[in-house]
Amino acid sequence: MKRLLPVLILLAPAVAIAELRVFACEPEWAALADEIGREHVQTYSATTALQDPHYIQARPSLIAKVRRADLVICSGAQLEIGWLPALLQKANNRDVMPGSDGYMEASSWVLRLDATANVDRARGDIHPQGNPHVQMNPHNVTAVARALAQRLASIDADNSETYRSNLELFLEKWQAAIAGWEARAASLRGKRMITHHKSWVYLQDWLGLEAVANLEPVAGLPPTATHLSRLTKEFAGGVVDVIVRAPYQDARASEWLSDRLGVDAIVLPLSVGGTAEAQDLITMFDDIIDRLLRATHHA
Ligand SMILES: [Zn+2]
Repeated sequence: MKRLLPVLILLAPAVAIAELRVFACEPEWAALADEIGREHVQTYSATTALQDPHYIQARPSLIAKVRRADLVICSGAQLEIGWLPALLQKANNRDVMPGSDGYMEASSWVLRLDATANVDRARGDIHPQGNPHVQMNPHNVTAVARALAQRLASIDADNSETYRSNLELFLEKWQAAIAGWEARAASLRGKRMITHHKSWVYLQDWLGLEAVANLEPVAGLPPTATHLSRLTKEFAGGVVDVIVRAPYQDARASEWLSDRLGVDAIVLPLSVGGTAEAQDLITMFDDIIDRLLRATHHA
């Protein structure tokens, strides 16, 4: 008995609260799972918003997390092709294999942009299945939230009503937030953006921003001197409104071009935690719009 007692104490909370373990590839999906699952889920994100989700190591600690996961949620569309297949294979957890209820790709639930832009594939474009950075349109997040609530309900049927009501509560505040963002961002329509990587196509599509160029010559290839000097010639004379990069992208190309074009180069959070202000999904979009308005002088 003496020996058993500590074990029983340790097990007690696990029995009291049925927690689903959610393994997210990116922080935005962990944040969404927290919104829908609340106390019934324990979320973990493989990457932080300060890491490039295209490229991380399939390290043993991540394999262990996938092995114990009840649900894996990732952006998909090959964003994680460099590491997720290896994680899934090594973890060998039948519950979260592609095709099972415990595996979902957010990009499967939205209308994917750039899906036919395969012309650059041979030159190294890393988005052959369309653009995977779908979290940058909050309407996409709505679609993923609905799908996620269904998955949680199907994996954990006992709490299915809770997931449904959490979804409704989330969507209520989310739809109100979207209306606010769309009103605040009205003056951004038509603003011309140069972006480091094609991380913002859904944001541009949503807010009517114009994507004029990328610092990467082809999605996934680092900026080159030739490409940058071509951009200075093409966009000389005030035809660009802002240059945007994600927190994990090297500032040098942005800053260099910013100096030459006389345009602000800014960092926007691409996920939750990408800036100090982006604490959750709502404050992430608040901050994106704040920063764009400031940079384009409409604040
Ligand atoms: Zn990408």
